[in-house]
Amino acid sequence: MFKELSRGSADVDWCEDNYSISPFIAEFYNTISNAFFFVFPPMMWALFKDYAHRINPSINLMWVLMMLVGACSAYFHCTLSLVGQLLDEVSILWAFSLGAGLWFPRRYYPRILKGDRRRFRIFVFILMLCGTMLAFIKPWLNSFLLLAFVVPGFWTAYLELRRVQSHQRVTTLFRTASVLWIVSISCWVADRTLCDFWLFVSFPYLHSFWHVFILLACYYSVVLYAYFDATSEWAEMGPVLRYWPNDSHTKFGVPYVALKSNPYSDENMNKIF
Ligand SMILES: [Zn+2]
Repeated sequence: MFKELSRGSADVDWCEDNYSISPFIAEFYNTISNAFFFVFPPMMWALFKDYAHRINPSINLMWVLMMLVGACSAYFHCTLSLVGQLLDEVSILWAFSLGAGLWFPRRYYPRILKGDRRRFRIFVFILMLCGTMLAFIKPWLNSFLLLAFVVPGFWTAYLELRRVQSHQRVTTLFRTASVLWIVSISCWVADRTLCDFWLFVSFPYLHSFWHVFILLACYYSVVLYAYFDATSEWAEMGPVLRYWPNDSHTKFGVPYVALKSNPYSDENMNKIF
């Protein structure tokens, strides 16, 4: 049997006590918190049905990858095996790469690509393959490389926000996404660096909060980028930000990109659930 598959062979061990709740699950709460990855993406699939149908069907691949991330993460925290750790990190890298390939605005491409989205996708695909190989060679580098996506992603979203002469809804979405990223990364870092303190106050569960917040942060970012892309490349479709279940409850609703003359009106969307 490969030792990389064996329990506890991973480079990292999060703050939560191992096997304290179940003899079969290494980190119980860090494992079950991944359940949210199987609840939200199908909902997102339904909300973006019109977008996928009329603009970009590949968005559905993002929802599938999000579920894959949840499955790999659950496997990793259940076993703390090195293979689990690598699968978890590599699936996140794939999801980030897919997001970049689908929505990174053409106006910020390296000049050599001349705004050609096909070439940019090939370029991202090659980088993703290199990143995947690097993940297997130097596993300790992975989490830092993944976090390195955040700064350019944030900066590009900020530039796009200025470009669309921000409608109040877009500004609010950008702010919410930023707060979610800050909260989730803080949970990740605090769990990793201040474990003694969390054990002292009997709350070593911050990594499970990271799972939930990062899922929401990624979803909000997808909505934001899909909206920016649609306003730039598909303006004639009249993309607008809407909220489910009630479009006037923007604070507690789930945002999505709708298209004017939308066959999936709120009424029809409500019937889906
Ligand atoms: Zn995790």
